[in-house]
Amino acid sequence: MPKKSLEVALIAIPNNLLDVIYTACRTCYSADGAVDIYDKITDDNEKKLALIKRIISSGHYSTIEHVQVTFAINNISRAATHQLVRHRHMSFSQKSQRYVKEADFDYIVPTAISANKELLEKFEKHMEETSKLYAQLVDNGIKKEDARSILPNATASSIVTSLNLRELIHLANLRLCTRAQFEIRMVVAKMCALITEKEPWLKEHLVPKCERLGYCDEDNSCGRMKTKNG
Ligand SMILES: Cc1cc2nc3c(=O)[nH]c(=O)nc-3n(C[C@H](O)[C@H](O)[C@H](O)COP(=O)(O)OP(=O)(O)OC[C@H]3O[C@@H](n4cnc5c(N)ncnc54)[C@H](O)[C@@H]3O)c2cc1C
Repeated sequence: MPKKSLEVALIAIPNNLLDVIYTACRTCYSADGAVDIYDKITDDNEKKLALIKRIISSGHYSTIEHVQVTFAINNISRAATHQLVRHRHMSFSQKSQRYVKEADFDYIVPTAISANKELLEKFEKHMEETSKLYAQLVDNGIKKEDARSILPNATASSIVTSLNLRELIHLANLRLCTRAQFEIRMVVAKMCALITEKEPWLKEHLVPKCERLGYCDEDNSCGRMKTKNG
């Protein structure tokens, strides 16, 4: 049962995000205690942002680790979730293939395959046959945790993930790069778009790493930026 499209929702973000980061920034350079700084915080968001931008641009990233955001993601392939879970500063809760029966499973078709009618037909047929074999295994008493061994990387999953702003910037720098795989780029692009809708000042940081570095450090550069060797 394919062809559901990716859904990403931002389900948690602190409503005092700037206050938290501003307090962290000022605590480093003020004789006042952190509690007093927070209690007497200014209402002037421009002032808060000016300090925050200065501190981040000087590489003082611990100050943005205090803000954690949470996303819910539907219709993402197991291939893409496997790439996401490689990021060790993110937290995850994912639909279990041990507890949830994958009969008639949804799957994600890579755009490159869906663009080719003949290959798409073969791909879909393979999914159909896999689905039938999965049902046969489960119907014959094989536990879901073992029957799942035949499920493809394309199997659709759903996942909740939380991460702090420093890790979000790192994730964007790596996964918005054109060298990253298409699906994970789409997922991370949606995550970034949802955050920048609420916090537009983050936009300049949620970019591929070449924009941050000023050059491309990949061996196989896509050519949009000069490489590290010129
Ligand atoms: C284009 C692309 C291709 C890839 N290809 C492959 C591949 O072929 N095979 C493969 O296995 N993986 C591959 N990966 C995954 C990659 O190797 C990383 O596992 C993944 O991108 C997570 O990145 P990270 O470790 O920087 O990030 P995170 O795990 O999010 O960590 C963030 C940062 O924290 C620090 N950190 C975290 N844990 C440690 C630690 N234990 N010790 C020291 N510092 C730490 C590092 O500075 C790290 O950059 C690829 C990734 C990309 C973007």
